[in-house]
Amino acid sequence: MGWPGSTEIAAALEVQPAITTSGELRFDTCVLNPPSGYVLGDIEQGKRFVSSLLGGQNVRIEGDAPWLHAARLPLADDANLRIRISTDAQGNADELLIHPRSVVALNPPADAALIQHSLAAAGISPHALACLLSPRAQMADAQLHNTAATLGVPLRFSEETVLNVEHRVLQSQGIQLAIASQPVDIHSLGQPRGRLTVVGLGPGASEFTAPAVKLALQEAQDVLGYETYVTMAGPFRPDQVLHNSDNREELARSRHAFELAASGRRVVVVSSGDPGVFAMAAAVLEALEASSDQHWHNVELQILPGISASLATAAKAGAPLGHDFCMISLSDNLKPWAVIELRLKHATLADLALAFYNPISRARPWQLGRALDVVREQRQPETVVVLGRDIGRPAEALTVTTLGELTPEMVDMRTMVIIGSSTTRRFAKAGSEGGWVYTPRSYPA
Ligand code: SAH
Repeated sequence: MGWPGSTEIAAALEVQPAITTSGELRFDTCVLNPPSGYVLGDIEQGKRFVSSLLGGQNVRIEGDAPWLHAARLPLADDANLRIRISTDAQGNADELLIHPRSVVALNPPADAALIQHSLAAAGISPHALACLLSPRAQMADAQLHNTAATLGVPLRFSEETVLNVEHRVLQSQGIQLAIASQPVDIHSLGQPRGRLTVVGLGPGASEFTAPAVKLALQEAQDVLGYETYVTMAGPFRPDQVLHNSDNREELARSRHAFELAASGRRVVVVSSGDPGVFAMAAAVLEALEASSDQHWHNVELQILPGISASLATAAKAGAPLGHDFCMISLSDNLKPWAVIELRLKHATLADLALAFYNPISRARPWQLGRALDVVREQRQPETVVVLGRDIGRPAEALTVTTLGELTPEMVDMRTMVIIGSSTTRRFAKAGSEGGWVYTPRSYPA
């Protein structure tokens, strides 16, 4: 006696058998889900086709379908049913068409309908189109990118728009179609347009990072930035390349980013807070403007904003920046101290609330004290001051004090200093020390 079949097992369990034989499963996966590089012509027809097979009909295979060898199909040379591997758009009722993605439109126009017509006129299925291959000079052509997106195929670029595998070329409606004998490995064809995205991570906590930034980080092949921020932007997959560098090498880092992106890679440069506020975005643009390398200018460049430290700190304290304010970096690494003093003087005179970035560091020990001297010439000791340290990070600390009490010792390089204007106020917050700080929207006449 053999093993019990599904009918006997179902009877013993007193249930209805749902019979899906391994053969059926195998037919489904192999016939209806061809491997990458091949596309099923028509899923509905595919289902009918598989039921005919399961109904006991034989089948023959025309064309090259190595993955079907494992399917143990009921093959017969004289079968009525056939599986045909072909770029042909039209099949007949007895055949299942599976299209190899083996057609490449060479140097195509930025017109999806025209490309579709040229395929149709040549009797080629749109599913057989593997990609568009264009000259590098056209890399920044937005219309061409839209065309590829409309057609749902990748757009690749190379100096010479020819295929590097066995193929024939036919002209259809003025468009050159290269038809390879095998599915085309598009990764071997030129390169995609590279992408450089400059992102701001926000102050630290992941929930304050914009979804668009998270997506860019996920899609990145290379991530560049100051080590602390690269770590903050993680975790990354093993296939993502991290390029940590010293915080001061901004222009060198920007050039490196363009070199990678110009080779077709998806590159992300990270900053904390907002990338346009005393951070990488300006350095990246400076590097680009100074470059005569057309490949750099062809890179898809995007800058994605983040929550800047002053805004994150202000929100913690209430709304000290609720009226006009100014952001100023106290670092005299990149600008003369005299300029900083002049700006502080005018901003204080203008009664703007002040947000100090880079207020102090070991290399710049005296600057904050000097800045406070300038501010105190015009502003009262009672002026409300907010200090945000490591805002949005585990060690977050918020201090509300006054200009009279503020000393440089209360501040380090991880602190945001907000000095209120004459109208900035505070009031007690139930159950907490610091209270709410805000600057009213309206200004006394
Ligand atoms: N691009 C950043 C600023 C870079 S300058 C942004 O938009 O926030 C670096 C300075 O920002 C630091 O010296 C500090 O003054 C401030 N800073 C950055 N992150 C901070 C944080 N999480 N909490 C408080 N201050 C921060």
